[in-house]
Amino acid sequence: MERGHRLRGRDFPAPSEFRKTGVAIVGGGIAGLSAAWKLNKSGFGDFQLFELEDAVGGNARSGKNAVSAYPWGAHYLPLPGVEARETRELLADLGVLQGDPCAETPSYDERYLCFAPQERLYRNGLWQEGLLPQIGTTKHDQEQYRHFFALLEQFRQRQGASGLRAFAIPAARSARDADLMALDRISMRQFLFQHKLDSPLLHWYVNYGCRDDYGSDYARVSAWAGLHYFASRNGQAANAESDQVLTWPEGNDWLVKQMQRGFKERIVSGALVQRMEETKSHVELDVFMHSENRSVRWQADQVIFAAPMFVLPHLFEGLDTNLKQACQQIRYAPWLVANLTLNSLPNPGHGAPLSWDNVLYDSPALGYVNATHQNLRSHEGPTVLTYYQALSGEPEKNARQRLFDTPRNQWAEMILRDLSRPHPDIRDKVTQLDVFRWGHAMSMPVPGWIWSAARERLTLPHGRLHPAHSDLSGFSIFEEANYWGVKAAESVLQHQHLLLRSRW
Ligand SMILES: Cc1cc2nc3c(=O)[nH]c(=O)nc-3n(C[C@H](O)[C@H](O)[C@H](O)COP(=O)(O)OP(=O)(O)OC[C@H]3O[C@@H](n4cnc5c(N)ncnc54)[C@H](O)[C@@H]3O)c2cc1C
Repeated sequence: MERGHRLRGRDFPAPSEFRKTGVAIVGGGIAGLSAAWKLNKSGFGDFQLFELEDAVGGNARSGKNAVSAYPWGAHYLPLPGVEARETRELLADLGVLQGDPCAETPSYDERYLCFAPQERLYRNGLWQEGLLPQIGTTKHDQEQYRHFFALLEQFRQRQGASGLRAFAIPAARSARDADLMALDRISMRQFLFQHKLDSPLLHWYVNYGCRDDYGSDYARVSAWAGLHYFASRNGQAANAESDQVLTWPEGNDWLVKQMQRGFKERIVSGALVQRMEETKSHVELDVFMHSENRSVRWQADQVIFAAPMFVLPHLFEGLDTNLKQACQQIRYAPWLVANLTLNSLPNPGHGAPLSWDNVLYDSPALGYVNATHQNLRSHEGPTVLTYYQALSGEPEKNARQRLFDTPRNQWAEMILRDLSRPHPDIRDKVTQLDVFRWGHAMSMPVPGWIWSAARERLTLPHGRLHPAHSDLSGFSIFEEANYWGVKAAESVLQHQHLLLRSRW
């Protein structure tokens, strides 16, 4: 936080060294790494990737202790569908996807397919399998479930006039029919009521989905985005159920570590890009090297901007007004993540057994994932639970302030109180509890944003600058970051008149 916020004061030492590169990649999250992966794979090695943190990964970073590796943010990847070509190609390169990445139903390395049981829900003192509330539902709830899932099936099957699916991942490959785009103007909550869907349990389920993927309450998520969450996924596998996910103890940081192979030496970490200016022949970047307390001036032919887009106006001199305004319109959800190390598994409680994802119905949080779930050893020993909370119930500026004003001990107490309901023994078992605050965790698809001219403006190159962050999609998931990173790399290669090397 201190490093990033230095951009506000603009108090940096003058450059003490001058260097050149063909392409500068700003930001080493999934988007920046995907751009580097694509450039490297295409045989283009003249690039440098600058990352302000000491390690790359962005929202997909992880931690590790004597018990296990554990995620600090992104922790899974659903099976990618055929439209997510870039992600499938990447997974094939990393050996996660086996065989032909274009196959309708490829196979995946079984070590990374989430072991059963995948998810459970705690409600009224009982754990049930799956996340759709089932115990104690009325006939009305069940009818409403059927109606909702029938609607989703229609959207899942629907093709737009262009032949594209109504909702695809990446979102840029979705149909653009007027009636579908109009769904962006109402909230997901309004959509449910418009379809006479009023079951509180169904509302909880849909709201949970929006909080989980978008960090935002369903009343502040566009119906287009809400439906995209439920209707876009169509990935299948020869050796897995279609709703099975790919996961690792350290979450998506496993992918981050594998992606770097082949260009590690071109990553400059602890490096805050603090000023950029485009001249007639190149872009000048001033990079503040945190540990050395000095600045280096780089000259690049092209820049791939894979840092969050709200950062761009703070450092780019002479930014186009429309692009600047578009960057300033993005709204970011704050998140809290905690890792709890336990000396043994908590008491399993009543009902469904401990799963990878464990969700609490009556909680401000989303629940927790178990970092040792994929261990082949017996599940009796110590473990690490990763607890997630999107601060979604209040305007994001207030939530961000609360996130930073609340001391760690108070968060720890709230988390332990919440988890004590299903696990009364948790306080006796916790040996360590670390808290991570994500101030600008992910962009929120508020009504009107996804199909706005401002959001579309973010996706266009600006002179020698090629934007790439997942913010370009209006919401944040692995495949979107990966798509924009690869697209920016392709755009750069076209500028450099280089051929692309790809399996596709
Ligand atoms: C708590 C949490 C849980 C999530 N869980 C999942 C999940 O399970 N599955 C999933 O698919 N997605 C998940 N996501 C979404 C996740 O954001 C995306 O999957 C993806 O990691 C986003 O990558 P990105 O490269 O677009 O952005 P980021 O991860 O934001 O990367 C941007 C990078 O730019 C760097 N940077 C910023 N400013 C500068 C600067 N001036 N100079 C140099 N570097 C700079 C940052 O340090 C950062 O490393 C989660 C997000 C959060 C916050």
